[in-house]
Amino acid sequence: MTETAIRTSGLGKVYTVGDSRVEALNGVDLSVDRGCFVAVTGPSGCGKSTLLHLLGGLDFPTSGEVWINGICLNKCSEKELAKARCEEIGYVFQNFSLIEELNVRENIVLPVLLAKRKVDTDLVDDLVKKLGIEDRLNFMPSQLSGGQQQRVAIARALVNDPSVILCDEPTGNLDRKNGQEVIELLHSVHEAYKKTIVVVTHDKTIAEGAERVVRMEDGCILG
Ligand code: ADP
Ligand code: MG
Repeated sequence: MTETAIRTSGLGKVYTVGDSRVEALNGVDLSVDRGCFVAVTGPSGCGKSTLLHLLGGLDFPTSGEVWINGICLNKCSEKELAKARCEEIGYVFQNFSLIEELNVRENIVLPVLLAKRKVDTDLVDDLVKKLGIEDRLNFMPSQLSGGQQQRVAIARALVNDPSVILCDEPTGNLDRKNGQEVIELLHSVHEAYKKTIVVVTHDKTIAEGAERVVRMEDGCILG
């Protein structure tokens, strides 16, 4: 029997701005097996980022439920949610979201410090080697290429050793070559650390390399 890493049932999200109401997600039922590499595709505005935010506990649904490793995120207390976000989930964003005032090493270990844990230096050494940034640890984000910044963001997403990694258009701000390298790194991370990986993407190469492709349209999953 396979274990389920991610499960949503009847997941809905309505945004209200002034008088207008946007139904960004409309009853999404999704189940992802532990260790699966999933690509989520669909036209701009179909709700991909909204879905990822809800899976990561970065926002709340207006209806339905999200379960990550058996934890129902929308029934958690604030404290439990913070713990689940920190321990179970790593995030990679299109714009890297590094802290400009911190160097590479400080950016990578920040989630560990926020979790009030001890830095696992063996894991950090291993990550920076695997991601090819071991000679950039003292650099500031502004001194890195986009591809290098995304590698730092991937290391940061992995530093607390979460089992689920959520990536929103991770190659969207990169040129083809760097994008390709980031994709290969996500696959090697998937292999090496046995993570469940969900990647929202317009990138055909990512979708082709994924174990499973989830297609969305108008706030729903197709098929
Ligand atoms: P995608 O990532 O597939 O491009 P999004 O999930 O970002 O789509 O957006 C889905 C819909 O929800 C869009 O119509 C978008 O305008 C709307 N939306 C997203 N975020 C917000 C927000 N914070 N406030 C209001 N509307 C939003
Ligand atoms: Mg998006």
